[in-house]
Amino acid sequence: MPFARLRFGPVINSAGHAPSPSTLQHTSAESARKTKSKLGCQQCKTKRVKCDESYPTCRRCARLGLICLPAPRLTQWQVETPWFSLQPTAIINRRLLQYWLEKVSQMLVIDPEDNPFSFPALEYIPQSPALVHIIQSLSASHEKYFSAHSPIIALEERGKALVSLRKEVEQNQRKPQAFLLTTMLLSLAQSADCDMKDYGKQHLFAARNLINRMLQNASDLVNDPLARLCLGMYLYWDMCSAFLVDPEEDQIIDSLNMSIAIHKMGNWHHPMYGPCTGLLFILGNVGRYCRQILDSRHRNFTQEAIFEQQLYCWQACPPNISLGHLYEAFRKYGLIFLYRASGQNNRFTNPDMMFQNQQSLIQKYAEDTVRHLMQIPATSNYLNFQSLLLLATGAELAESNNFLRDEVRERLRAMYSLNRLPTNLHALQLLEELWCARDNGNTSFWLQYMLQKDWYLLLG
Ligand SMILES: [Zn+2]
Ligand SMILES: [Zn+2]
Repeated sequence: MPFARLRFGPVINSAGHAPSPSTLQHTSAESARKTKSKLGCQQCKTKRVKCDESYPTCRRCARLGLICLPAPRLTQWQVETPWFSLQPTAIINRRLLQYWLEKVSQMLVIDPEDNPFSFPALEYIPQSPALVHIIQSLSASHEKYFSAHSPIIALEERGKALVSLRKEVEQNQRKPQAFLLTTMLLSLAQSADCDMKDYGKQHLFAARNLINRMLQNASDLVNDPLARLCLGMYLYWDMCSAFLVDPEEDQIIDSLNMSIAIHKMGNWHHPMYGPCTGLLFILGNVGRYCRQILDSRHRNFTQEAIFEQQLYCWQACPPNISLGHLYEAFRKYGLIFLYRASGQNNRFTNPDMMFQNQQSLIQKYAEDTVRHLMQIPATSNYLNFQSLLLLATGAELAESNNFLRDEVRERLRAMYSLNRLPTNLHALQLLEELWCARDNGNTSFWLQYMLQKDWYLLLG
């Protein structure tokens, strides 16, 4: 059974900068242009100058290299659900749930019209107070833009979500996937905290437990779209955090059942990233391995060669050009990561290495990756999935690539304007430090540098 597909339309701003204006939308934008806009960015408002309202970064901010703080663009649903006509219960805050539907849940997917985190997720609300609370917590945080002093309501809701989740897991006989969504949203709330040392390890470990239980029932992956959704979310999360986990405390994942499950997923189109499940799995394993050799210096040359081959051979049929660019960026990010952490290995077989040495190949891949990402429009939903790639590959750009460095800076700022996650700005700070060191002849590996700073950034 597929997820219900819902039509979301972008809300048109007064200057008519809708992502894809149809004739009808154009007419309404024309008439709206005559009225005074309220959507200008904060920077322009403070300076009392006219804002052109380009989204997510206005032209003035882009030109001056400022962080643009636009008013949030909401989406409007055009379908009523039975849930909305239900009597509100005591724990439901309709305003926060609506903000979730219109804004926050949209940051989690590549296609707003195929979003299981919006209306379809509400189906699970009657069974799970924990889910209601974590959704409301995230909405409250985002509404206040994850300010350093998180608004009280966001913290309260998060606390309630944790208590409810514990109860639900103890008392319920429900399948593990029913709790995975809440666990992952808890981690998202945590990563918005500005705590550089805490990437939400306890939530990741809880998710791994749930995944191991879920994998024991492989038929679910064929029949239950929630199970596929959760497995994909977990793999994406693992890719972003496997290298943050101390290898000493790393838990075992049931790798045999995991491989079978990924095989069963095949090219299923996941709402967060499309049909690249297999690639995410490889990238998670590469990250884990690289952290291991960084800590212990104990290398496995055969394993490295296997990873390399998996990465340079990986192919998918992306459903559109932008996703194709994103996948190429992912693939090259993985190769750069592997080469950077491991160093020379005479078992490597990448045909690209015939023409240049490893160091110049890293450079070339870094430039390629950034160029791929720049081909994806800043207005696209794919913007939310680029910060890790920008940090890891941007760090390899030489001083002579100043143009590309500027593109990376601008994009990380645009990502912050869009999702207001502070980690985007922390990544930018890391990059500035790495570039400065590199220009002075001290080239360091971004992960090593970040860990030395005792930073553990969870980047999406
Ligand atoms: Zn502006
Ligand atoms: Zn601006």
